[in-house]
Amino acid sequence: MATTTTTAAFTSQRLTIIGVGLIGGSLARALRRAHCCDEVVGCGRDEAHLKKAVELGVIDRYEMNVAAAVSGADMVVVAVPLRAMATVFSQMVSGLAADTVITDVGSAKASVVKTARAQLGDRFSDFVPGHPIAGTEQSGVEASFAELFDNRGVILTPLIETDAEKCARVRTMWECAGASVTDMAVAHHDEVLAATSHLPHLLAFSLVNTLASLDERKEIFDFAAGGFRDFTRIASSDPVMWRDICLENRDAVLEVLQHFNSDLRQLEDAIRDDDGEAVVNVFARAKATRDRFCG
Ligand code: NAP
Repeated sequence: MATTTTTAAFTSQRLTIIGVGLIGGSLARALRRAHCCDEVVGCGRDEAHLKKAVELGVIDRYEMNVAAAVSGADMVVVAVPLRAMATVFSQMVSGLAADTVITDVGSAKASVVKTARAQLGDRFSDFVPGHPIAGTEQSGVEASFAELFDNRGVILTPLIETDAEKCARVRTMWECAGASVTDMAVAHHDEVLAATSHLPHLLAFSLVNTLASLDERKEIFDFAAGGFRDFTRIASSDPVMWRDICLENRDAVLEVLQHFNSDLRQLEDAIRDDDGEAVVNVFARAKATRDRFCG
C-alpha cells in the first residue's frame, strides 16, 4: 500500500463520464474547478438527467450511445452502479481510441476487475480500477459538488497487467480533483471496505427496516432524536446502488457480517445475564476507538 504525496498537472482534451450522478458529476465539477479539461462529455440512460447536467454546467454535451460518448476521449470514467458496468464496458470498446485511459469509481473492486477483464479484451491493460472514499447519501447530478473529494482518499487497485503510465494519469486526475491517492491490492480493498463502509450501510438499512415494521404499532419515529438521525443517515442512500455493492462484494461482506453477528450475540447474552462489566467493556472499547479515529 502506497500513498502519493506529489501533485502533478492533469490535462484532458476530452473527458467522458459514463454515469453523471453524484460521483461522476462531482468529479467533472472538481476537474472543471481546476481547469483541467477542455471538454467534458456525459453519457447515461435518461436524457433528462443529462440535459440537467448540461444546464448545471457539469458537462459540455452528452451522447446517449456509449461508443459515441467515448469517441475521441483521452480519459473515460465509468461511474454507474456496479451491476451496470458489464454492459457499459462491452458497449465502449468499439469507440475507444488507441491511447484512451479507462477507469471506474465502483465501491467493490474484484467484481469490477472480473467484469472489465471479460468485456474489455485486449484493452484491459488500459483500465485502472479506482474507488473514491467519499460520498453522501444523496444521488444524481443535482447532488454533485466540486468539493466532494477535497482532502479525501482515493484507492487505486492496479493489476500486474495495468499500464503504468495510464495508472499515473488516473492518479494525477484524482489529485487535481483534490484527493490523495493510495494503491491497494484488490482483495485487501474489498475486505477493508466491507468492514468500514458496506457493513455500516447494511446495518443502517436493516435497523431502519426493523424499526419501520415496529412503527406500525408504536409510532416510534415520532420520538426519534439526534442519535437516531446520526446513526441512520446512510439508510437514505440509493437502494439499487447498495444492493449491487452487497451482492458484488458478497464474500467479504458475509465474513464481516458473521463476525458482527457473533459479537452482537455476546452483547445480547451480557444484557440477558445482567453482566454490566461485559456491557461496559464493549461500550468503553467502542468509545475509545471512535474517539481516537474520529476526534
Ligand atoms: P448516482 O448518483 O445514482 O449516479 C449513477 C449514475 O449512473 C446516474 O447518472 C445514472 O444516470 C447512471 N446509470 C445508472 N444506471 C445506469 C446504466 N444501467 N447504464 C448507464 N448509466 C447508468 O450514483 P453514485 O453515488 O454516483 O454512484 C456511482 C458509482 O460510484 C457506483 O458504482 C458506486 O458504487 C460508486 N461510489 C459511490 C459512492 C457514494 O457514496 N455514493 C462513493 C464511492 C463510490 P441515468 O439514471 O440517467 O442512467
